[in-house]
Amino acid sequence: MMRKALLWASTNPWLSRRLPKRRFVRRAVRRFMPGESLADALTECGRLGARGVPTILTMLGENLESTDETKPVVAEYLEAMRLAEQDGLDVEISIKPTHLGLDLDAELTRANVAALAERAEGTLWIDMEGTAYTERTLDLYRALRAEHDNVGLCLQSYLRRTEADLEGILELGPRIRLVKGAYAEPPDLAWPDKRDVDASYLRLAIRLLEHLAGGGGGFLGLGTHDPRMTGPIVERAEAAGLGRDAYEVEMLYGIGVGEQDRLVREGTPLRVLISYGSAWFPWYMRRLAERPANVWFVVRSAFR
Ligand SMILES: Cc1cc2nc3c(=O)[nH]c(=O)nc-3n(C[C@H](O)[C@H](O)[C@H](O)COP(=O)(O)OP(=O)(O)OC[C@H]3O[C@@H](n4cnc5c(N)ncnc54)[C@H](O)[C@@H]3O)c2cc1C
Repeated sequence: MMRKALLWASTNPWLSRRLPKRRFVRRAVRRFMPGESLADALTECGRLGARGVPTILTMLGENLESTDETKPVVAEYLEAMRLAEQDGLDVEISIKPTHLGLDLDAELTRANVAALAERAEGTLWIDMEGTAYTERTLDLYRALRAEHDNVGLCLQSYLRRTEADLEGILELGPRIRLVKGAYAEPPDLAWPDKRDVDASYLRLAIRLLEHLAGGGGGFLGLGTHDPRMTGPIVERAEAAGLGRDAYEVEMLYGIGVGEQDRLVREGTPLRVLISYGSAWFPWYMRRLAERPANVWFVVRSAFR
């Protein structure tokens, strides 16, 4: 119930105009993002980098209203890459397709992401949004992958279709970030039972690992905070002799921090995704929905 309510809130324009103005909400958000500016995010990339943890940057935003709005987004990401390179930081970029125009113009979106992939030193990651965009995002990935080796795609294990989607792109030697999925989806498209989502996650990860171990090419980013997923998969990857160039665990800033420390101590390849920007409301509601206990953190900060 709580998850559904929070995911509903994430798409509600009235709430998204009002709640971010409340000081206690802004205070609570700081747990999941170091700040709203690129400078805040890069400072944290530097701090994590000094501990041997590379990062991924995402500027928050989605579902633009005009194609002109994509220009500053592309410019901001190019600037982020320039500054990270200047500071000698290992920082990759992850974009949301609708933040670069997927709602409005597929060809423009391809050109926008291509401009970033061209400039990127490491992987240029494409996030996966709600199911209204799954097909178009796969098309976008295929078009970009034809020209750029360094483009990576997020796949969601909660979707019933993902097994077939993965099979369809395996021959491309894909760079995949595997996540469970963060949006409200109907049961005919996404498994409603968490046990099925977890089982699907393990199946998909093992399928990709076998492909990598067989020399098929690609990369597996384990985008999860769940040690029941990362534990057995990392064990298999190590047993198959795969290294940092073939897989890594990817976690969100501020979540599972103890687990992140443990992975670093054990020498497991880890990358942390840092989000920043002022358009954090829908993203933050999805983080609360993942763990409704987080709502108490927001309530507590209202009384602090
Ligand atoms: C690097 C990265 C990129 C992502 N990109 C996308 C994307 O492009 N598209 C998409 O749909 N989803 C994306 N997600 C979100 C993902 O789909 C899940 O919603 C999210 O990771 C929570 O699921 P989990 O795998 O951690 O497992 P869960 O089973 O939900 O959680 C496992 C454990 O992790 C901890 N945990 C998980 N979430 C939270 C939280 N919000 N606050 C506090 N503790 C928490 C809890 O201890 C929980 O018991 C991304 C996640 C990561 C890590």
